[in-house]
Amino acid sequence: MRRTHTCGALRADHQGEAVLLQGWVHRRRDLGGLIFLDLRDRDGMTQVVVEPAAGDAAFATASSLRNEWVVEIEGAVRLRPEGQRSDRLATGDVEVVAGRVAVLSEARTPPFPLDDAAGKAGAVNEDLRLRHRYLDLRRPDAMAPLLVRHAVIREIWRYLDEHGFVQVETPLLTRSTPEGARDYVVPARGQPGHVYALPQSPQLFKQMLMMGGVDRYFQVARCFRDEDLRADRQPDFTQLDIEMAFVEQDDVLALNEGLMAAVVHGATGRGVATPFPRIGYREALDRFGSDKPDVRFGLELTVLDELFAATQVRAFRSALDAGGAVRGLRVPAELAAHLSRKAIEGLEAVAKRHGAAGLAWLRRTEDGFGGPLAKALSPDEQAGLLAASPDVGDLWLVVADRWVTACTALGAVRLHLRDTLEVPCDAQALAFLWVVDFPLLEQDADTGAWTYMHHPFTRPRDEDLAWLESDPGRVRAWAYDLVLNGSEIGGGSLRIHREDVQHRMFAALGFTAEEARRRFGFFLDALAYGTPPHGGIAWGLDRLVMLLAGARSLRDVIAFPKNQRGFDPLTDAPAAAEPGQLEELGLTLLRQTDAAGEPTLGEGANAEGARRVADATEPTLGEGANAEGVRRVSFAGEAGEGDT
Ligand code: ASP
Repeated sequence: MRRTHTCGALRADHQGEAVLLQGWVHRRRDLGGLIFLDLRDRDGMTQVVVEPAAGDAAFATASSLRNEWVVEIEGAVRLRPEGQRSDRLATGDVEVVAGRVAVLSEARTPPFPLDDAAGKAGAVNEDLRLRHRYLDLRRPDAMAPLLVRHAVIREIWRYLDEHGFVQVETPLLTRSTPEGARDYVVPARGQPGHVYALPQSPQLFKQMLMMGGVDRYFQVARCFRDEDLRADRQPDFTQLDIEMAFVEQDDVLALNEGLMAAVVHGATGRGVATPFPRIGYREALDRFGSDKPDVRFGLELTVLDELFAATQVRAFRSALDAGGAVRGLRVPAELAAHLSRKAIEGLEAVAKRHGAAGLAWLRRTEDGFGGPLAKALSPDEQAGLLAASPDVGDLWLVVADRWVTACTALGAVRLHLRDTLEVPCDAQALAFLWVVDFPLLEQDADTGAWTYMHHPFTRPRDEDLAWLESDPGRVRAWAYDLVLNGSEIGGGSLRIHREDVQHRMFAALGFTAEEARRRFGFFLDALAYGTPPHGGIAWGLDRLVMLLAGARSLRDVIAFPKNQRGFDPLTDAPAAAEPGQLEELGLTLLRQTDAAGEPTLGEGANAEGARRVADATEPTLGEGANAEGVRRVSFAGEAGEGDT
């Protein structure tokens, strides 16, 4: 190694030492007879001074330097004069007096400034930063989340290794694993018409590892889900995937609590109290209006079903008669004072976006209530609400609807209040909790079909199994979600380990026996050869790192992320197939769309075409196209046995 130190290493005790530094020129200041360089690398920044005494050659070279050139400096460490020391830099007490300056490589002028300001939201177009991500990463603010990520993964390996876990890699080219999203598929050249699916998760493989006797497995696993990218999501993302044999729910939760505490401590130095609080799914919705509650602040919902049991308020009556619920949110007077009628209309819009038909409200006055709902209340209803409203000025927001809708709509209003009012909320807190006792299945409100809440391999509670066919909504699952500050950062379950139960689960989901065999025959066979009870979890590693690093988006914690449209501005992926590639794969294109969503010619598509496809936010429905138009392809080759 030629360099003696990194650019962040030198301190006052290095005074007098001869050193060799290499790094990027962050800034050059020419003070006539004196040149100052800020030399930068991952580790930090060091001030270099080139004085005329360094000689003509060194001085001339130093004068020619530009930002982002890579240079090598040989010189001596000296204390900076009193008054010129800097607290902002770890190396701020010293400088290096250069004796030799050499250029290792020159650089073009960067397309955006590489200072911290460039990282501020909106300061530099994000696509421009991503197109030159290798430059973006030179900013300490951009590098920091990657270092947190590294520390998180290092602690995971350390802790799980100590606890008897074995790391195993599972295939990326595989069959569909249902996790509720669309698959990315990869055409198989050798078998035209056949595709691999990229894994939505390693679920079935990790279960088969338990059947294979691995006992305790983990993997930092890359997963792929082709879903709506509007939220902060990435098409390929990373999970910490864990599975354990011969365990019950408490064992999995306890292991994860210990692991999380070790990870947070190892990556950030912060302590985390264990065990984490647990809250049932129903209670989470009733109290916080969310199955991933943010418990760092109050504003809990109130169950008003009993108070309104005999109500004549029309909207409430019909919701209750249809088996629905009435939920209220009391905004205390000191916060409610900031909510004008207009602001309340804004809250109603939030509730409506989350499915509610409306948002009723009341404001406590000296002698009762004001607001549109006040006159409709019976004396008993008035009295009941009054008893629950300690202060004049208290505001009640009320939704009557299906239970889930009433809860989640008010839950959304609750979060909106957190973000728009000065609600006391400890932003620094790490409020971990488990949500448990999920239903196994949920019913589609429109079609009435039952579908899994986690995935089809989740184990029903033994005592509820009898209801699987007759009253599916009543069956509880051994499933759990790990929540941090209102974000779901993990989810898992105990698994079905008996073949007969797995068959019944598939049937409850509406699969015929043939369909179950066609899609999951290999797995049903595996289950039949002696499967230990087992369970596990997956953490969303990107989101966890984002929260621990205090980053703004998932894109900030991924070295080379896609943009919000699922496009990679650095490599221009996805790109049009190379000439001949489709033919080799036995594929022909039905259609392609351009940036405006207009169909373009499938033939003769080029790299530019592909970029335009990727830039299209939403494919337009054209002739013969459906919502999946962009990716719909036809198989020109021989189709073999039916595949999904
Ligand atoms: N496979 C699940 C997921 O990806 C997690 C699990 O059940 O372990 O969400």
